[in-house]
Amino acid sequence: MEKKQENKLCCRVVLFPQPYIGHITPMLNLGNALHHKGFSINVIHTRFNSPNPTEFPNFNFHFIEDVLSKAKTPLSGSLDTITILNKSCLEPFRECLSQILEEASKDKEPVACLISDPLWEFTGIVADQLNVPRLALRTGGLLASILYESLPLLQEKGYFPLQDTRKEEPVLEIPPLKVKDLPPERDHDVLVSMVKETKSNCQGIICNTFKELEGPTLDRVHGAFLATPIFLIGPLHKSSPVSKSNLVSTNESSITWLNKHAPNSVLYVSFGTLAAVSKEQFLEVAWGLAKSQQPFLWVTRPRLINGLEKNDELFPEEFLETLNERGHIVTWAPQQQILAHPAIGGFWTHCGWNSTIESICEGVPMICFPFFGDQMMNARHVTDVLKVGLQLEKGLERQEINRAIRRLMVEKEGQEMRERITSLKEKADHCLVKGGSSYESSDQLTSHILSFCGAEKMKS
Ligand code: UDP
Repeated sequence: MEKKQENKLCCRVVLFPQPYIGHITPMLNLGNALHHKGFSINVIHTRFNSPNPTEFPNFNFHFIEDVLSKAKTPLSGSLDTITILNKSCLEPFRECLSQILEEASKDKEPVACLISDPLWEFTGIVADQLNVPRLALRTGGLLASILYESLPLLQEKGYFPLQDTRKEEPVLEIPPLKVKDLPPERDHDVLVSMVKETKSNCQGIICNTFKELEGPTLDRVHGAFLATPIFLIGPLHKSSPVSKSNLVSTNESSITWLNKHAPNSVLYVSFGTLAAVSKEQFLEVAWGLAKSQQPFLWVTRPRLINGLEKNDELFPEEFLETLNERGHIVTWAPQQQILAHPAIGGFWTHCGWNSTIESICEGVPMICFPFFGDQMMNARHVTDVLKVGLQLEKGLERQEINRAIRRLMVEKEGQEMRERITSLKEKADHCLVKGGSSYESSDQLTSHILSFCGAEKMKS
């Protein structure tokens, strides 16, 4: 949805997202919110995985070269990709930002600030060198921020290397995390560097969450990031969604299929854009879904199975025969629309932050099966703190899957989770209207950004 600008402020904001849908979408949603407030928006983006600029007429795009687009590397969840991008993008980014600053000064429309994803490890330093204020957009939840901040402490306390025998033990320093939720040592460098970048020349941290969802964790975040102002302005996909098709073209077959189903009867299954399973796990998911006897809508996108471009030929014939009209399988779904559909009664998710918050905003309880990174912390938050989902703790096994689906979709336990998450949905709705926490925080963010270009007075 395109929003009209409230009043033009003659001030630019430059955005620099990490090139993954789960990171691009909230950054562009934030851009939309700021455009609506009156800022001009410039987006610096890698050629790798770039959005189509014609779909975002409110923004000026500037593309930088990177090694991945030249190598035609497919998307992957590996943090190695982020390391490669960081190595190849520093100079192109510096040049691009300098050029924007030059243009801005010619056009007499100053750059108020840069807002970057802290998974870029150099933006604080470059912004400092070019004398541009910088803010960070954290696209994940706060529990993950706390964990990443605490990695050096946890290393000192002897949690690493992770030991299989200790995996069910609690992480006493960060309840309710368990040892098995902690990231493996090979990921620590990138994560520690992200925390460093969040603190480097950082004049504010913007988070795609809301106070009512993560209030108690917020106190710890304030403690960790001390003097830096923190703005909780989510859920961004609700307050200021980017136009068109959620960045990827969608077809409407899922909605037509859902229209034929009773309220709360369908389980939606999607593991996001990056997670991958083995062939064996894929078959366990398929048979678990079939056994449950519940209607389901399952997204099996390309490369969902490790190393395989297409998944079609993997569906066993007997599985397809047992389905009848009960299952609908697609390679991509308009997720936000799906979750908002009355027929959806549960979401089996990998617990990427966007999926988690999208489910909360539609009051849909979850089956959590996290794969890596912050998904582990998000799942723990959903199941142990919010109590609006249950977790498949023992891996992907058809009997356990069948049992979990029935607990969520048919039994009283699932109904209670649905009631709890409906009340959270109401809080999410409320935080975005005048007087609500995110609404107020978003106004404070606008004033904060305006103060950088001495333009506070321009804000009518
Ligand atoms: N998504 C979608 N359709 C799909 C799969 C994913 O629209 O079939 C969107 C989903 O709504 C979410 C994003 O892709 O906004 C995935 O982000 P998330 O943080 O949940 O997971 P990631 O893909 O980064 O692991």
